[in-house]
Amino acid sequence: MEDRIVAPQFYSDDADEAGLRPRRLDEFIGQERVKETLALFIQAARNRGEVLDHVLLFGPPGLGKTTLAQIVAREMDGSIRITSGPAIERPGDLAAILTNLTQGDVLFIDEVHRLSRPVEEILYPAMEDFALDIVIGKGPGARSLRLNLTRFTLVGATTRAGLLTSPLRDRFGVILRLDFYGIDELQKIVTRGAGILGVQIDQGGAAEIARRSRGTPRVANRILKRVRDYTEVRADGRISAEVARQALDFLGVDALGLDGTDRRLLHTLIELFGGGPVGLDTLAAATSEEAVTLEDVCEPYLLQIGLLFRTPRGRVATPLAYQHLGRPVPANNQEALW
Ligand code: ADP
Repeated sequence: MEDRIVAPQFYSDDADEAGLRPRRLDEFIGQERVKETLALFIQAARNRGEVLDHVLLFGPPGLGKTTLAQIVAREMDGSIRITSGPAIERPGDLAAILTNLTQGDVLFIDEVHRLSRPVEEILYPAMEDFALDIVIGKGPGARSLRLNLTRFTLVGATTRAGLLTSPLRDRFGVILRLDFYGIDELQKIVTRGAGILGVQIDQGGAAEIARRSRGTPRVANRILKRVRDYTEVRADGRISAEVARQALDFLGVDALGLDGTDRRLLHTLIELFGGGPVGLDTLAAATSEEAVTLEDVCEPYLLQIGLLFRTPRGRVATPLAYQHLGRPVPANNQEALW
């Protein structure tokens, strides 16, 4: 798959993201409920001189899970160790990470639903009792040895909380869901990003980028950088609503933040399958995309803005999807929806 400007995953293009990350909770824009909850538990833990309970963050990519984990570490005066489910291959890898943590550190595990079973089993006593159970020897003579670990906070992140095993899920004391951001919040994020990058932008320009960023800060920041490039070459370097619109049209991102892949999906659904219902795999084959790309990247946003509907029989295009593509809504569309 080519790098899509509106895809929420991390690309090499985003390598300078670190400079744009909010460093403190009060710098973090939006997700008010999540911030309030974290602030409360952080304060309580600090007052008691204890470490913060383990936190599970879930929600689509690019909404700020890694950023929040770093903020938690900073607010608790600890360091952060960042890894991910698939990166921890063997139980010994996790044991090595755990024994190297110091009191109050944050261990951030991205894609925590992808930990292997044996690795997950090391994590249970580590989360619950801050202990590591090591088996020495083999067969009938094997002995189990318990090592004490320093107290730490695990921050787990996942795009799909439903994929977590229940023993793992139950060991998180704080479970928080991140939602797509509103236009106002994204506008503030764009304005803040422009300030850090030294880009001149007016409110209209920031609003236009916000509207086309799919509710996702990572996409907003990436679009801001590409629009800046366009503006420096084709305009006077200052991003207004009009220049942002021209740049985004040039980049193939439409008024709702859809790019070619999203539009191809909707076109295929409408033209080849009469608007649906059609199964995900069939749709993937017809658009030459991978089913997981459609499911994790295109769908959450199309569902969120009401262009797509998921029924037990498959995906269905809504009247809004027809309107967005400039096509008449067929009379049987409502039946397909239900
Ligand atoms: P995730 O871990 O959920 O994929 P990240 O924490 O890596 O997302 O966030 C992606 C980028 O979006 C970061 O570089 C950060 O600059 C930006 N970002 C995320 N949330 C916010 C926010 N609330 N305010 C400002 N920028 C944000």
